[in-house]
Formats: sequence, C-alpha cells, structure tokens
Amino acid sequence: TNFGYREVPENEKSKLVGNVFTNVAGTYDLMNDLMSIGLHRLWKDRLVSKLHPFPGMQHLDVAGGTGDVAFRVLHAIHKAEHRAVGKLGGKSEAKNETRVHVCDINPNMLEVGKQRAHKLGLENVEDLVWMEGDAEALSLEDNSMDGYTIAFGIRNVTHIDRALKEAHRVLRRGGRFLCLELSHVSIPGFQQVYDAYSFAVIPAMGELVSGDRASYQYLVESIRRFPSQEKFAAMIADAGFQEVQYENLVGGVVAIHSGLKL
Ligand code: SAM
Repeated sequence: TNFGYREVPENEKSKLVGNVFTNVAGTYDLMNDLMSIGLHRLWKDRLVSKLHPFPGMQHLDVAGGTGDVAFRVLHAIHKAEHRAVGKLGGKSEAKNETRVHVCDINPNMLEVGKQRAHKLGLENVEDLVWMEGDAEALSLEDNSMDGYTIAFGIRNVTHIDRALKEAHRVLRRGGRFLCLELSHVSIPGFQQVYDAYSFAVIPAMGELVSGDRASYQYLVESIRRFPSQEKFAAMIADAGFQEVQYENLVGGVVAIHSGLKL
C-alpha cells in the first residue's frame, strides 16, 4: 500500500530526491534530532563501531551529506592513531595515508558538511575528501576502499541494485559494507504507534521546522516502500557480498545491514 501517496515514477525520482535535500539542507540536522529524539546519533555510533576503523584506512561514506558518519569514522581513526603513538613511546613511524571520502549527489548537503567540518576544526584535515557523485556510478577505482558506509541514503537511490554493485566494485577483498537505514517494525502494538507517529507527527514537524511538509511526507512514504530487512539482505548478497547480516535497532525502526567482499 502507498497510504494514499502518489507513486513516484523512476525517472522523476532522482530529481525529486535532489529537490528534497536542497529544500531541507539548512534544517536537516535539527530535523534529524527532532524526528529521532536524538537517537540517530547513537545509531551512527553503532554503525561506525561495526566498521572497526583503523589508521591508514581508505573509507567511503556514500550519501554522506552533512558529514555525520565521516566525522565519526575519522574520530575513531584518530583515537586509534593516538593509542598506537602512545605504544610507540610518542613516535609514529607509520606514514598516515588515511582517507575518508564523503560522496553525495547534492552539493548543498556537502556544503553544510564542509561548514560543519570547519566548525569542528577539520577543514584542513587532508584525510577528508568531499566528492559530488552518484552512488550508482562512483568515480573511484575498483578494489580501492577498505570500508563503505551509507546511512539513511540507499532508500533514496533510484536503482538500489546498481548502488550495491558499485559498493562491491570499489571495495577491496576483505572490505566491509555497512548500511544504516530506516526499516520495518513488526512488533504488534509498537507498529501502530510507529505508524501514527510517522504519518501524523513527522510531516507536521517538517512543516513547522523547515516549512516543507511535502519533503517529509516523501520521507515517510519512502520508508514504507523500502524492502524488508530480509529482502534487502538478499539484495546485498545478490550484489556479491558474503556473510550478509543485519541488526535491528529499536524494534526495526532502523536496521544495520552488513556484508564482506571476500
Ligand atoms: N548520511 C547522512 C546522515 O546520515 O545524516 C545524510 C543522509 S540524507 C537522509 C540522504 C542523503 O543522500 C542526502 O544528502 C542526498 O543528497 C543523498 N543522496 C540521494 N541520492 C543519492 C545518490 N544517488 N548518490 C549519492 N547521494 C545521494
């Protein structure tokens, strides 16, 4: 069921998604906090803890918009570096060639991300690479990345299967794929509460905060249309990943899917 919302034809989808994030870029972070009552921060922490970042890592965060995931990855790498330096008695012999790429299709989101990096004092960190690009056609070489993350992004991609194939292509053997996405709640009782919240509260909140009800109605609709946890896991396996697993958080409000390129 589409709950009375218009189905979006595929050729219109990219344009619509582009507009959605152009309209909401400025209030995007505030809305995330409000809608998830701050929980998205913990979910992103969990995503990054599953990645096991390490110094020298080549990482790609797709649909990385405002840099939330990339900053966490970089922070985890810097912490690991300090630990390593501590063990070497203050001397680090290892040449640091860490790169965390942030790829997003929307320049406005990247702009917000760059401003945030500036505020965090990260603007001169050459470890961070901002790239405007499409998840379905990445401008990175085959087998070049140790890790790939995508948080609240794959749902917006027109051809999910193509994005998954691209993730597999750019990862090197042993590379880890991780996807954090709003998913499906199947706990009776909780499901009704969650439906009421998402259909009544979220669009109203969107209107109030960003003056844009339609973008948040689109968000709710797109969550409903996204494949179930099991089906999405099967798609990840179809793209060539091994050891595909998923973890539900808050009863399936979000799920973290993972896979390895072996
Ligand atoms: N990952 C960030 C986070 O968790 O806060 C941003 C998530 S935001 C909901 C979705 C992002 O996906 C937007 O910045 C949007 O521009 C981007 N996006 C949508 N379609 C894309 C595509 N095909 N390729 C790359 N990025 C895309």
